[in-house]
Amino acid sequence: MAAKKYVYFFGSGRAEGTARMKDLLGGKGSNLAEMTNLKIPVPPGFTISTEACVESMKLRGKFPAGMWTQVEKNLAKLEKAMGLRFGDRNAPLLVSVRSGARVSMPGMMDTVLNLGLNDQAVEGLARRSQDPRFAYDSYRRFIQMFSNVVLDISIKYFEEILEKRKRERGVELDTELTTADLQEVVRRYKALVRERRGREFPQDPRQQLRQAVGAVFGSWNNPRAIKYREIHRLPHTWGTAVNVQAMVFGNMGERSGTGVAFTRDPGTGEKRLFGEFLMNAQGEDVVAGIRTPQSVEKLRQVSPKAYQELDRICRRLEKHYRDMQDVEFTIQDGTLFLLQTRTGKRTPTAAVRMAVDMQREGLIDKRLAVLRVDPHQVEILLHPMLDPKAKVERVARGLPASPGAAVGQAVFTAEEAEAWAARGEKVILVRAETSAEDVGGMHAAQGILTARGGMTSHAAVVARGMGKPCVAGCGDISISEAERSFLVKGRTVKESDWITIDGTTGDLMLGRLPLIQPELSGDFARLVKWADDFRKIGVRTNADTPTDAAATMDFEAEGIGLCRTEHMFFVEDRITAMREMIVADDAEGRRKALAKLLPMQRSDFKAIFERMKGLPVIIRIFDPPLHEFLPKTAHELQSLAADMGIPLERLERKVQALVESNPMLGHRGCRLAITYPEITEMQASAIFEAACQMVKERKKVLPEVMVPLVGTVEEFRHQRAIIDRVAAGVMRKSGVKVPYQVGTMIETPRACLVSDEIAAEAEFFSFGTNDLTQTTFGFSRDDAGKFLPQYIEEGILQDDPFISIDEQGVGELMALSVRKGRSARKGLEVGICGEHGGDPRSVEFCHRTGLDYVSCSPYRVPVAKMAGAHAALKEKVKITVLGEK
Ligand code: PEP
Ligand code: MG
Repeated sequence: MAAKKYVYFFGSGRAEGTARMKDLLGGKGSNLAEMTNLKIPVPPGFTISTEACVESMKLRGKFPAGMWTQVEKNLAKLEKAMGLRFGDRNAPLLVSVRSGARVSMPGMMDTVLNLGLNDQAVEGLARRSQDPRFAYDSYRRFIQMFSNVVLDISIKYFEEILEKRKRERGVELDTELTTADLQEVVRRYKALVRERRGREFPQDPRQQLRQAVGAVFGSWNNPRAIKYREIHRLPHTWGTAVNVQAMVFGNMGERSGTGVAFTRDPGTGEKRLFGEFLMNAQGEDVVAGIRTPQSVEKLRQVSPKAYQELDRICRRLEKHYRDMQDVEFTIQDGTLFLLQTRTGKRTPTAAVRMAVDMQREGLIDKRLAVLRVDPHQVEILLHPMLDPKAKVERVARGLPASPGAAVGQAVFTAEEAEAWAARGEKVILVRAETSAEDVGGMHAAQGILTARGGMTSHAAVVARGMGKPCVAGCGDISISEAERSFLVKGRTVKESDWITIDGTTGDLMLGRLPLIQPELSGDFARLVKWADDFRKIGVRTNADTPTDAAATMDFEAEGIGLCRTEHMFFVEDRITAMREMIVADDAEGRRKALAKLLPMQRSDFKAIFERMKGLPVIIRIFDPPLHEFLPKTAHELQSLAADMGIPLERLERKVQALVESNPMLGHRGCRLAITYPEITEMQASAIFEAACQMVKERKKVLPEVMVPLVGTVEEFRHQRAIIDRVAAGVMRKSGVKVPYQVGTMIETPRACLVSDEIAAEAEFFSFGTNDLTQTTFGFSRDDAGKFLPQYIEEGILQDDPFISIDEQGVGELMALSVRKGRSARKGLEVGICGEHGGDPRSVEFCHRTGLDYVSCSPYRVPVAKMAGAHAALKEKVKITVLGEK
């Protein structure tokens, strides 16, 4: 039986793969194949498939049968295409060995450059390049990289040797070392390998290749790659492809160089060639962020021919892929080569602008434009900005590497960032430069500040991908990691000091500046409008005040899905009346206090109804446990007793009586309203009096009254009877009729199980998934923070169920409830008002489960709308554009 095909060649204008073979060849491999087929100058090579990696993992690191024979065959083909031979003393072939998964995982896995060099080949390279120094520099870089990636010897030992040689020679820069110095360095490097590994550095290029391929396969499972996949929710089963490609050299002198370019500006979305390059350098020098590169614009002067060709190729690639591309290029002695193209990562602002621009340019249609913008990214667009009214004193300016403003306490290592964030602190991670090991800390931080590195440095790329504000290359700060501080303009900022960064401008400020929420306008508003045309699921808001109601209308939501009335009670004069009600000893006393609250509630409801202009407004009856309204400390209690004119002991007795072991599972929700029916009476009066006034003023109004925390139909029936009675009374008295509905929250498992009984009497359902998650898991929503991070870290739970709906458990109960509810009441209106209503994945789940709407905070409305559109479009659009899955 013929062995499975594991190796795919590209070169000499033809490739065995295409861009559609991402799963098999990885992003890099499939795009190298596609570019080859497009006759774009790509150094030839071959790709070993992800399937080979997966099988090799199963075989505990052994290559699958037949794979190596195919590698040998393709190597021969490559030698022929290049007119060079592996290990040859005159014309040696050198290759790069790079990882390449289905989706790009920048810097997470391993790469080896200059593979094929040995004691003979280095001489051949010296002769062919007529530059022995270059040849020995390449050899020393190769030994260093190979030893690190394959033989697992720390880079630091190699750096020590290099530094020592520089000291011995009394020079400062690597470039000042001569050929003879580098030959000596190579000798010492090899001795180091012998000493550390007990064997010689491998001289046989085939053995080098075999080991490097094995190491790159293995790097799929290195800790930082695993962490990256966890953060980005990528399956661990994919494996990586390996690309073996003929080397071209950007470090062959001043007519050579290397860089990265984007077909549009990944920060703003502007249509222009954007990027950075370094002359006389290898690719790693650009992305590592150690030398600060020049803007690609400058290439126009430095190498006009290469610039023009790069510009032409970039335009061609973008048109072909119909999306912004991020390319890596090398200029070898004046000739341009493309080493990679991939869909470029972009900031949320750029994503929106590009989607709208490309639709206008006819590259993509509206559906694709909507799908191009990840709803999670939109959320970032609604992230805080510096309040323009704030007095801002900039102390330093770096590169605006990833937009948005962030405020936090300075920390200096990724581990600290993670540890502090786990304790609920807001931190800014401050680093000289970031590396792949810092990903976890970057994720945990509010923002990232680095002293070195350009717009395409690791920090910038990763931060943009995560949507974290980032200021990179801020050369005005000098960091001492040992002392956990940095110096800026003569001032020392220590660990835990507050700082503010603005990733949109690159500014650094000291202290804690005020941030504001941006609004919906321009391209963003246009895109959200398109999303409205595609989505099926409605979007309402959780809005408690007239101001929230105004924001609801600004964001063009379709109603209020949850008005938590108790939030209005915390305001000055209301809390006094509320406390009087709590302290009262009997219903009579409570009624008296509630009578004071009634006009305030009425006017709040009226103001909300006015703003909502007849859209549905769900008002929930009082829900929290009463102790939340009383102060806690002895001092506060003393002054409250004095204010209320009652003896301290009486107040203390009351507080004592309200203590519960599990207040979130205790005397709250409809349980409280059943024991204190006068609360529901007052609230229903306020709602219907406000609504009747609206009708009298000939204004539209649609109140929906909601009962919380129901577990049995009897609880609902009890409350509904009060609400209906009060409604009838108010309408009779005012002589007008108001259309209204009475429904319930579904936030206990029992309510889900008896949803048919409840729906027979309730006119609508709204899932309170905060409580439903609490009661389904049996996790206290107030205490879960103590163990959930560890659960997620250890993979016991994939996600925090209070953020994203646990589809298997909570979701299953919801689906059951919808089914049962609608079996009893056809067309029953069902929504969700837990925090999950603004989480894109949960919105998609709600769409699939047939909910009528989601309700979320006003600022998340665009997120929910985009997520709703994505859910609907993904159901029917088969996306056929290259580069999309
Ligand atoms: C819920 O439980 O999901 C809900 C919306 O209500 P609250 O958070 O006010 O308990
Ligand atoms: Mg609740």
